[in-house]
Amino acid sequence: MKREIYDEDHEAFRASVKEFVDRSVLPHTDQHIADKALPREFWLEAGKQGLLGLEIPEQYGGAEAGDYRFNAVLQEELAKVGAAYPTCHGIHADITAPYIVELGTDEQKERWLPGVASGEILLAIGMTEPSGGSDLAALKTTAVRDGDEWVINGSKTFITNGYSCDLVVTAVRTDPEKGPKGITLFGIEATKEGFSRGRKLDKVGMEESDTAELFFENVRVTDAEIIGELNMGFIHMMQKLPQERLACSIANVAHAKQILLETIQYAKERHAFGAPIGTFQHIKFLLADLVTRIEVAEAYIDKCVLAHSKGELTAVDAAKAKWYSSDVQGEVLEHCVQIHGGYGFMNEYRVARAWRDARVTKIWAGSNEIMKELIGRDLGL
Ligand SMILES: Cc1cc2nc3c(=O)[nH]c(=O)nc-3n(C[C@H](O)[C@H](O)[C@H](O)COP(=O)(O)OP(=O)(O)OC[C@H]3O[C@@H](n4cnc5c(N)ncnc54)[C@H](O)[C@@H]3O)c2cc1C
Repeated sequence: MKREIYDEDHEAFRASVKEFVDRSVLPHTDQHIADKALPREFWLEAGKQGLLGLEIPEQYGGAEAGDYRFNAVLQEELAKVGAAYPTCHGIHADITAPYIVELGTDEQKERWLPGVASGEILLAIGMTEPSGGSDLAALKTTAVRDGDEWVINGSKTFITNGYSCDLVVTAVRTDPEKGPKGITLFGIEATKEGFSRGRKLDKVGMEESDTAELFFENVRVTDAEIIGELNMGFIHMMQKLPQERLACSIANVAHAKQILLETIQYAKERHAFGAPIGTFQHIKFLLADLVTRIEVAEAYIDKCVLAHSKGELTAVDAAKAKWYSSDVQGEVLEHCVQIHGGYGFMNEYRVARAWRDARVTKIWAGSNEIMKELIGRDLGL
């Protein structure tokens, strides 16, 4: 089905993203996997090409696109390479940067945004803690007032870009009595005394993305590092999470679609019993089924992208997009592995990696159970 959300400007932008991917990403993917991280050159190249600052005002070196469809194009093209790319890029440019752009003070914007746009300051977002991620309001990392400063103690885990980031937007408890109304966001620079990181976590998939635990031991910050308002961190996160979930949804569908297209090709080329396996009715019907599912999911996500471009995406619609897209992605990739037979289980085949990479999308950015909880609440249940 012809998609209708993109015009020629978006397609011209897509061409420049593809050029970046061909030049600066595809030749290095094996190295990224071996390093379990994206190197700084990836970020600097992306910055040079204007791919880190779509959300950032021009005065701070960004492109100030003001149209979420450009972000969507970027997510799609990176997802075609591998699921980790839109994840790492998205955490930096699409998920964390907007906290600074929309909630930061002028001084914070001047201090951080030019480096965010150029790739010299890599961002991460620290919400999840070892004691739990779904119940964000129960987070335990604390900031205690000491004169003009705050003293932060605690830890975060599963933080994407955590091993290499320069600045972490971190959710911290500033009032122990007030539950969700006692949480504040701080921009914590990785050079702060008392800040440290654990090893790169050993994940089942998405090796290219570095994921780490972060530790805060008497880290001293001031009010100048508060992002947004004191004790309003929980509300700020709730306002920003729909964009994070939409970004994930776009990548989920684009990633699965790409592997499905490659699998259709494989089904045309691989022979068994003297015929291409795609001509067996089971596989033909299965591929017909999967292509339909992808297109239906894509149509819903496209509607969400358009709604978000107009500032109309609701948290509930983003929750539907996130759980549904990750479910479809998982189902499609599971079948794609099967269609590849034994090769589907070999790491050198993209389909195998894609299948492993995709498993986490049902867990992160708010688990699918939490998405259904939000949707259920909206039903008045
Ligand atoms: C690779 C990776 C990268 C990540 N990147 C980041 C990042 O950059 N920043 C960040 O802050 N976090 C990040 N996360 C954390 C992620 O968002 C959390 O793992 C997720 O929110 C779930 O939290 P949890 O792991 O503590 O599970 P828990 O909250 O302990 O949940 C365990 C299980 O219980 C279910 N559950 C919990 N509450 C309910 C309920 N009310 N009803 C029904 N079921 C429920 C959950 O759905 C889940 O299945 C990342 C995680 C991974 C794996």
